[in-house]
Amino acid sequence: MKDGKSLTDYGAAIYKKCHYTCAYCGFDGRSFENWRQLTIDHIRPVKQDGQNTEENKIVACQSCNSITSRMTFPSDDSVETILEKKKARVREILKRDFEFWRTEVAPSLVSRPLQNVQAWKNSADDEQELSGVDDAN
Ligand SMILES: [Zn+2]
Repeated sequence: MKDGKSLTDYGAAIYKKCHYTCAYCGFDGRSFENWRQLTIDHIRPVKQDGQNTEENKIVACQSCNSITSRMTFPSDDSVETILEKKKARVREILKRDFEFWRTEVAPSLVSRPLQNVQAWKNSADDEQELSGVDDAN
């Protein structure tokens, strides 16, 4: 992705619009290491007639981009509808993954405090948290 193109080609304006944060999970891409995990996501996939416009682009971490990459959408879905569907899918996967991590991975990580987890683990309270991009502007 970041293969020697100019900052404009990288979608610098999109990164800025999204505050270097994944639109789906809230991953903070402001540090160099984390920035490298960010991608530009076409909200409506190009393969499904998604436009290569700023309105159809958003920042997604590689993990969320991967989660949403195989989703398909009816041709009359708006960008907003697709965005909500993708957020819902990511939320679903993160909850499943978190449960696996909590029960299978975390117990062996004795030095790591369990309270140090992301907001998406709570189903009721995460709607605002995950709709960050729209609210942040
Ligand atoms: Zn993400």
